[in-house]
Amino acid sequence: MIKKIAAILLTAWVGVLYGQQTAQTPTQTPTQTPTQAITNPPIAPAASAVTPATTAATATAASAKKFDAVAATQTFMNRLQGEARAKSDAYDEGGYWLLLWNLLYGLAVAWLLLSMGISARIRDFVEQRTRHKNLQTLFYVLAYVPLTALLTLPISFYEGFYREHQYDLSNLSLMKWLGEAGISLGVDMVITGIAVTGLYAILRRLPRTWWAWGAMAGAGFIMLLIMAAPVFISPLFNTFKPLPAGPIRDDILSMARSNGIPVDNVYYSDASKQTKRVSANVNGLFGTIRITLNDNLLNRTSPAEIRAVMAHEMGHYVLNHGIKHTVAFTLILFGGLLFIKYSWEWAAAHFGSRFGVRSISDPAGFPLLAALFSIYIFLATPVYKTVIRTAEVEADIFGLNAAREPDGFAEAIFKLSEYRKLEPGIAEEFIFFDHPSGYNRIYSAMRWKAENLKY
Ligand SMILES: [Zn+2]
Repeated sequence: MIKKIAAILLTAWVGVLYGQQTAQTPTQTPTQTPTQAITNPPIAPAASAVTPATTAATATAASAKKFDAVAATQTFMNRLQGEARAKSDAYDEGGYWLLLWNLLYGLAVAWLLLSMGISARIRDFVEQRTRHKNLQTLFYVLAYVPLTALLTLPISFYEGFYREHQYDLSNLSLMKWLGEAGISLGVDMVITGIAVTGLYAILRRLPRTWWAWGAMAGAGFIMLLIMAAPVFISPLFNTFKPLPAGPIRDDILSMARSNGIPVDNVYYSDASKQTKRVSANVNGLFGTIRITLNDNLLNRTSPAEIRAVMAHEMGHYVLNHGIKHTVAFTLILFGGLLFIKYSWEWAAAHFGSRFGVRSISDPAGFPLLAALFSIYIFLATPVYKTVIRTAEVEADIFGLNAAREPDGFAEAIFKLSEYRKLEPGIAEEFIFFDHPSGYNRIYSAMRWKAENLKY
């Protein structure tokens, strides 16, 4: 369960900062190494970097008096039809359901640990080993995390391995996937161990105001985690290097300098060992903040697309989305701990004695606490998705103005459509989308183009 909480909170939190730009191009095989990709293709001017379909849109624009942004957007929509469109929609819609299945599965695991007395027995076991309260909590967590990782393995395997291969998005073998799951488990034990030990220390000392102190401590801890992630966590999974020399690097670094970003903050990663998705992101905070593009982006997209995507990421950096999201998510965490405070009383009154949980500060009740928090996060889905999506709109606009590559941006966004639903309904986008829909993002690029072509 804590894995779920950590996943939701950290995915929300870190993922927010990542501002991920992901896409997949299964028809292309990566034939170039990143270095080749950087050194070989010259920086193409915007007009020559567009693909045939976009060239058609450009030609339409030239022949017509005014470029029609809606028609140009529709041209993109028409490029993904039939089976490919159904597959893209299915991947995304399956993800909506996974939010629910993950919640229900996690609740079932919590019920199992509590109702069978497993959680209380772990508590009794650690109490016999040490009288130190913090150590009791820590040892409880070090038993709880691997146990829940094992119990949730079926759904983790389905979501992280089977489904990704089903949709041809993963490059990981089963052994490699299990290896990475093992590393994640180790990271999870350290992070959860510290976080939960700290939370229970606050619960014991401040029984009335723990939720407020807990939220503040939680915000501080998550900021530390985000700062540490690029230095200590990400390198456990991938290699990050400064961009190799070449015209693409020159171009990206020039764009970085012109937007006030220190040039040593642009890196690339070997993400192709895990995924086929094209991706770039911003991660870290304060001194560790950096922009990273992955080797799939270097290998599988045009220079215009790379420029457009990197300008979007630079938008996250320049617009300080990291720190703004930290504030927003601290407020969401406040709400979550208040939700636990009130729902705990109800749940403890109904089930407390049956579960052998003495009070809210008893670690044996942690599965219940985690279950309540996961219900809150599930209900708050549209809130945190909207916080993230709003920043993505800002980064899109920033990127269009900085790179001046509307066609490159639209092409890059179109590539996301192979696993992101292009045209969701309004409510669907509001509830589930942490980036604007493909339609809206491509339209924003075409609108930019229409308004800038008139000069
Ligand atoms: Zn973004």
